[in-house]
Amino acid sequence: MTADPSSAVVTVAVTCRLDSRSHAVPDTELTRTAAADTGRYRAICGHVVSPASLVAPDGKPCDACSVAAPAPDGKGRRRRRPA
Ligand SMILES: [Zn+2]
Repeated sequence: MTADPSSAVVTVAVTCRLDSRSHAVPDTELTRTAAADTGRYRAICGHVVSPASLVAPDGKPCDACSVAAPAPDGKGRRRRRPA
């Protein structure tokens, strides 16, 4: 397995029925057998998602996932240096 820092983790937005937030779940997590058995998936923010109905509207994006997810175009999420 290669870890290329330039390649972003592929995530899927999954709305959790417990907090009604849309979390970013790695695609590898969605296909993990243990996760599929329980129906719960760990998002990149660490939250264990209990997926809402697929017909439910998307929840508000999870702030922690937004911070944890690398920006796809490398813009807008640059860390600010202290002045
Ligand atoms: Zn999250």
